Amino acid sequence: MQLFDTLIRRGRELQPIDGRTYRFYCCGPTVYGPAHIGNFRTFVLQDVLRRTLETGGISTLHVRNITDIDDKTIRDSMAAGQSLKAFTDHWKEKFHADCAAISCLPPHIEPSAVEHIPQQVSMIETLLEKGNAYTSEDGSVYFKISSFPTYGKLSHLEERELDLGKTQNTRANADEYDKASISDFVLWKAHRDEDGENFWNSPWGKGRPGWHLECSAMIAEYLGDSFDLHSGGVDLVFPHHENEIAQSKCACGGNFAAHWFHIAHLLVDGGKMSKSLRNMYTLADLQEKGFTSMEVRYVLIGAHYRKQLNFTLDSLSGAREALHNLAKSAARLAENMGGETMLPSAEFGPFQPAWESLNDDLNIPAALGHIFTALRESSRLTGIDAAAALAGLNRILKALGIALPEISTSEVHAPPAIKALAETRWAARSNHDWETSDRLRDELSTLGWSVKDSKETYLLSKL
Ligand code: AMP
Ligand code: ZN
Repeated sequence: MQLFDTLIRRGRELQPIDGRTYRFYCCGPTVYGPAHIGNFRTFVLQDVLRRTLETGGISTLHVRNITDIDDKTIRDSMAAGQSLKAFTDHWKEKFHADCAAISCLPPHIEPSAVEHIPQQVSMIETLLEKGNAYTSEDGSVYFKISSFPTYGKLSHLEERELDLGKTQNTRANADEYDKASISDFVLWKAHRDEDGENFWNSPWGKGRPGWHLECSAMIAEYLGDSFDLHSGGVDLVFPHHENEIAQSKCACGGNFAAHWFHIAHLLVDGGKMSKSLRNMYTLADLQEKGFTSMEVRYVLIGAHYRKQLNFTLDSLSGAREALHNLAKSAARLAENMGGETMLPSAEFGPFQPAWESLNDDLNIPAALGHIFTALRESSRLTGIDAAAALAGLNRILKALGIALPEISTSEVHAPPAIKALAETRWAARSNHDWETSDRLRDELSTLGWSVKDSKETYLLSKL
């Protein structure tokens, strides 16, 4: 499989370093509220990458952390009058429920930052010993980026005229900062009043780890100093991933990640999601509007991962229709199989071009296009050919993590003349030609068929 690598800015073959298991790390959610659909764009794309590798016969080790301590989790747990643990446990549970609903496979290992404080302290000790970090007056510890000459390679900071010398006296204590401030970043934050009870003892006094450190410490624990791939949304390239590289390479040696997979952002109605614009959707928000999580998943995978995706409610209606059409085609193939049984297959049959698109820089939109073309071309297959096509379809849908909605079997079994009448009626209805639509409904009813409309489609059943 070929995938674009942010570091070298071109595609590269994915091969497990150890020749057996593809070991990869994804920066996980910060559990201080419900994940929004932008977060899910990233998690769903990582899930399709994993499913594609596994469908191709490569076993994987997927590690994704939980950020349960940082500026935001502390601030909001204190505002809610809850312990950090009770507060973050609640949102972690909600995140797991959402992941299950949207069909993301659970990672094999899901370590949390709070459960790895000793590993983080020990990494800071190593960085201090090696001269890559220093303590400040208040008992905080900072990473000295001038001690790591290749800092900034991933985000191509050299093109932004990075002068490491200039950073010597600037420091960032906040967990998040922007591109304008390339500065020494905090590894250990000395305790402040606003942290309340959230502190640990360390050789430098009471405090807590800085946000960037947790991933480096957990990667060292579960994946060692060199592993296959690291991933997150594009916002993490700088500074988070640059800082991880600096910490890990200085503390552990090794190559760190062999490949970097970043997912472009999801926009809503053409702009950034924000609470104040009231366009920050969670899965629950969309379920309340009557959409299913599978429809949301379908929209999220619908654009190439290196392009921004503009989310609209209309795109969810389109997803509903597409999924319904897929389900109808699958049911038709099952019907055409006659007495044949469908055996699970290692082949893709007519869906081979879709599989090739998935393996070509995870081109899901092209794969979906090929799936619909192959379905049109396979609609007249019968017997064993229909069975083979259905097996191929199931295999490609599994790689995409798509589960098809239930459709009424009577709809599939309706005679062509009835189906044609129903289609004409639907077209009339879509054109607001209520008179024709009502007349055709009566006609269908006389012929023994009832038709039930939903917002996006209709269901035929025998009276
Ligand atoms: P967070 O919970 O903020 O740490 O983010 C979890 C993941 O979602 C990270 O990989 C982020 O890069 C990613 N992410 C955040 N916002 C978006 C967005 N609008 N579109 C796609 N991914 C995002
Ligand atoms: Zn991370």
